[in-house]
Amino acid sequence: MNEIIYLSGAGTLTQPQLELYSCRIAAYLSARGVRIAAVITGRSPLVYAAIRGCIIAGVCYIPADEALPEQRRRMILAEAELVLYDGGGLSGETGAVDLREIVNQDLPEQAELPPLCSARPAYRIYTSGTTGAPKGIEVSLGNVGSFLRWFMTIPAIAEIRPRSVLNQAMFSFDLSVADLYYSLFTGARLTVIERGLWQDFGGLFRRIRDSRAELAVFTPAFAELCLCDASFSRELLPELRVIFFCGEVLKPEVAVKLFRRFPGLRIINAYGPTECCCAVTAAEITPDMTDRALPVGEMSHTAGEVRVENGEIVIYGESVAGYTGGLTGGFSAATDGRRCFHTGDSGCIENGMLYFNGRLDRQVKIMGYRIEPEDIENNLLKIPGVLQAAVRVSGRGGSRSALSAEVRTDGSVTTEEIRRRLSELVPQYMLPGRITTSEALPVSANGKLKRGN
Ligand code: AMP
Repeated sequence: MNEIIYLSGAGTLTQPQLELYSCRIAAYLSARGVRIAAVITGRSPLVYAAIRGCIIAGVCYIPADEALPEQRRRMILAEAELVLYDGGGLSGETGAVDLREIVNQDLPEQAELPPLCSARPAYRIYTSGTTGAPKGIEVSLGNVGSFLRWFMTIPAIAEIRPRSVLNQAMFSFDLSVADLYYSLFTGARLTVIERGLWQDFGGLFRRIRDSRAELAVFTPAFAELCLCDASFSRELLPELRVIFFCGEVLKPEVAVKLFRRFPGLRIINAYGPTECCCAVTAAEITPDMTDRALPVGEMSHTAGEVRVENGEIVIYGESVAGYTGGLTGGFSAATDGRRCFHTGDSGCIENGMLYFNGRLDRQVKIMGYRIEPEDIENNLLKIPGVLQAAVRVSGRGGSRSALSAEVRTDGSVTTEEIRRRLSELVPQYMLPGRITTSEALPVSANGKLKRGN
């Protein structure tokens, strides 16, 4: 009972501690009639407890990344009635409540997690939006239930029933829904990797080893980073049985290396957008598949119904969530009344397997982060002195150096100044590797900027 079930650089939790803290947080929120609360997502144990507390209290939580530039963070926090944070770091937010104060209060402690089956909003995740403001996606308990029920029946997960899980994605990213909800609803131990550890291989590998993970939930970019070091192998994670990948292209060579370093490993390549709650398809990758592009799903086992219509992947059913603020985007109602989402992803089905063939628009993934180039362009245009801006992506995305921006200015602002101002408007991962100025940007016959992608 006193085993650690949450492990982070900022501390640990046992199951009784998690229950006590989350129930106190739930009681606090319920007593105040809160419906929507932002949780500043560091990796501390109280953040995990706060998310559990929000679920218990039926409060829609917004996992807000602590590292977002202030202006962007405020746009997100403005949607919440209350901001929960764990002591240090953030201060001075209007209406912010320190979680340490809540969990030290003597509040009622009996409460249970609700069943994951209603239309009640569970969380809102904000992603890059073409307008230059973050785009909110609201996911219901029913959407999460649809995902989790399907996830637990993926053969590798169902057969292994992992008892310890390693999380890499921040809670403000959709990928984390897999490890977060799996651990909360099965009682599996969750180990998290702070963003800072990406730059400190010693600390990173100590954390990975301490996780004793049976299941890891990774972006391919993160696995590629780990594979740079020879010690990322079976000796480091003797109990690792399965890696669940989602969010971007998993290259066959990465799978090959993982099979070599972790004999007996099972690899799942899953696919889905935040708009449909984490993932809707998954394919188990075997060594004989690695001589060509890898499939992202088995059509016989999907969450909801997944089709390819006119070359675009379209998702129907219970997993389909919605945008906030009246946006509709790719959402619509199918003729049979079910909700559906046009993903903007190009795909094809071959031999019962779904393949991802890139985007139909300009959206890209850089180190696993979803980015709309127009988001960066519209933020460049907010900088005084910038008259025009074009963001280009070389290749198929990948690293931040793939992003470059070309701007036309009135001569009053330097590229260094533009970079500094832009870093106050967009997250670090959206900062182009290169910003150059140009006298005149190429404009097409209809007056639109030519971007070359
Ligand atoms: P996000 O909302 O951040 O999860 O990003 C969703 C987008 O990531 C999808 O619409 C795809 O473009 C891309 N994506 C998700 N899973 C995969 C995958 N397994 N392979 C390639 N691209 C993926």
